Amino acid sequence: MEADKVMCLPKLSRVAVCGGTHGNEMSGIYLVKELLKAKAKGVEEEEEETVPALLVLSNPRAMQQCRRYIDTDLNRCFTHAALTGPMLDPELYELVRSRELNATLGPKGSPEAVDLICDLHNTTANMGLCLISHSDCDWICLHIFRYLQRQMSDVPIRYIHLDVSNKEAYSLDSVGKHGFAMEIGPQPHGVVRSNVYAVMKAGVQHMLDWVTSFNSGRAFESGFVDVFTMVKCIDYPRDSKTHNITATIHPELQDRDFCLLCPEDPLFQTFSGETLSYKGTEPLYPFFINECAYYEKGIALCLARQRRLRIPAIRVQTEQEQQANKQRSASEEEE
Ligand SMILES: [Zn+2]
Repeated sequence: MEADKVMCLPKLSRVAVCGGTHGNEMSGIYLVKELLKAKAKGVEEEEEETVPALLVLSNPRAMQQCRRYIDTDLNRCFTHAALTGPMLDPELYELVRSRELNATLGPKGSPEAVDLICDLHNTTANMGLCLISHSDCDWICLHIFRYLQRQMSDVPIRYIHLDVSNKEAYSLDSVGKHGFAMEIGPQPHGVVRSNVYAVMKAGVQHMLDWVTSFNSGRAFESGFVDVFTMVKCIDYPRDSKTHNITATIHPELQDRDFCLLCPEDPLFQTFSGETLSYKGTEPLYPFFINECAYYEKGIALCLARQRRLRIPAIRVQTEQEQQANKQRSASEEEE
């Protein structure tokens, strides 16, 4: 077999951990607050940095009111067009806040952007721990994913790939050079559950450990990972006049995120008790089943196709390689 070619990637010098992008997703909010406390204590006692990350509470006003958002969903405000075009409505708090966050963590798509963003979320769906990213070829995110799977083998960990370009990606994590949402459930919004909090705390710690190890020069071998690429979302059946929903998720489907849904499997149960089946032609994997925050978005569940990807071996660039790359990109700019 061909020798494993090692891909050399730039050092991850600036990592951001964000919580409270949705102001009622409590695990991330309390975890970032705890990390801020640990950091402040470390500074006070002049220790070596205990949390080598930039810590951000993304939507303080929504957090204060324990709501997902004040005026509009902050985690839909980070497309290239929304960040760089004329401000649509400066009265909308999240539109203003998204530009502040882009100034702190980005600008999106620029060399000044932070190297990695881990944005913490909770879902009411039974999804375990998911990394959600718009890329299926971001080797940093995929290597972190495989590392978490190995370190936390008692937790179901999956990678959801939203198939859009970085410019079109609307989430906060897309502002970094690399980024993902760490989504953990089930946990009701406005509630913090010890088991979910503990998984998030461990996930963030392992992620930071991986970054430290990567930056110190360790090589990570190639291999295969399974990813779930989103295909489509399905809305609830609705009354054509009132637009009210007329059915719930079927009891046989509820909580069965990432269990294959086949054509003719039960999908919804109407309020009068009738079963409605899945009419798709292809078996697909459901996720975000009955997510509380998605009723207003017209989403009852999302469906994904599973794919196996090969990830290359990677290691951090040496100082000389970084210098050479900088000189190369500088001379390209001159041309
Ligand atoms: Zn969220």
